[in-house]
Amino acid sequence: MIVLVINAGSSSLKYQLLDTATGQVHAKGNCERIGIDGSFVGHEENGSGKRRLEVALPDHKTAIKYVFDILSEAGFDTDKIEGIGHRVVQGGWYFPESKVVTEKTLGWVREVAPLAPLHNYAEADVIEICREMFPSIGNVIVADTSFHYNIPEKAWRYALPRDVVDRLHIRKYGAHGTSHRYIWKKTAEFLDGDVHKLVSCHLGSGASLSAIEDGRDKETTMGLTPLDGLIMGTRCGTIDPATVAYLMREGGYSIDEVDTMMNKQSGLLALSGLSSDSRDIEEAAEGGDANCQLALEMFYYRTSQLIAEMAQSMHGFDTMVFTAGIGENSSTMRLGVAKELEWLGVRIDEEANKVRSGEPRVISTEDSAVKVLVVPTNEELMIALDVEELLSK
Ligand code: ADP
Repeated sequence: MIVLVINAGSSSLKYQLLDTATGQVHAKGNCERIGIDGSFVGHEENGSGKRRLEVALPDHKTAIKYVFDILSEAGFDTDKIEGIGHRVVQGGWYFPESKVVTEKTLGWVREVAPLAPLHNYAEADVIEICREMFPSIGNVIVADTSFHYNIPEKAWRYALPRDVVDRLHIRKYGAHGTSHRYIWKKTAEFLDGDVHKLVSCHLGSGASLSAIEDGRDKETTMGLTPLDGLIMGTRCGTIDPATVAYLMREGGYSIDEVDTMMNKQSGLLALSGLSSDSRDIEEAAEGGDANCQLALEMFYYRTSQLIAEMAQSMHGFDTMVFTAGIGENSSTMRLGVAKELEWLGVRIDEEANKVRSGEPRVISTEDSAVKVLVVPTNEELMIALDVEELLSK
């Protein structure tokens, strides 16, 4: 099936057109600065280089129309596109699995939007526009939280007053669920089913871990929002929650300032004082920059601590997978994290770890107590497979 996958933010829209049978990506791109001066589209077809197209994009509707126009020029008119998959960041309590778009399911995306206002409202608008403009194409909602929805109550419940958490729907929702679900599927295929308790490490500019036992999620590091858990590019991850009140009371910061500080000005960026990109930090650390060295050390420390926490929730682990920007590309970060886990019997083959490849691969030694792999993630393919499954019913 030829599926268009759309991932909208408040001022951006990423798209990818792919074939579920082969996984081939026919075209992909990103619309940036929607509703802001200087908007443009980066577009790529069949793996050819990216073209930057300066184009006025006053709103999401114009952006979608433009995407369909360039896809049509590339030979994929609306007759060829058989389904549209929409990545929704927050599915709340309505999407324990992906669902076909109807008035009702679309309403749910809006209803839970206060939990992720920047993304959900934009994606809901985009879904509505797609339904209006291309009524013959089916739409499917794939929420990033779905995979985590059925973790045990002892894992998702927060120890706050029941009336408050019930009224405001406060719980652990997690994120990156589509990636973690893909990692389980791909790893099980690659290892011919020889995987039982897996810790999936999605380490990108946003980062989270998931404890997956026989395909079912048991625990994850992100919480009510994607701010919780690991130290990330610009997010602080887990800190004492009282820090929020202290910053406001003693520091004089407003709630929006605290929110921006913790989401956009913290993490590796704050620790290094240089960059949120692990490549810059690795290079500066190599050159002797003490802040960057500490940033890396803290990243290894926190990530390994939470890997052990994931393993604890399954009472053990046999497999660990690195994925996403850092997990797939940085042999330094992988080694740093794995070294912290040596006491658990984790052993990395340093030569295998250095190999660069777009394919799944094992990087642990034969005698490692836990098999360690690098598996490139593919959230778009996972979304497209859900679209195919639901629309063929
Ligand atoms: P997201 O999807 O959350 O934006 P990605 O999964 O694309 O993030 O990861 C982006 C991050 O991955 C970059 O900020 C950088 O730190 C890291 N990264 C990407 N490529 C490399 C590389 N070749 N070597 C080291 N780190 C890399």
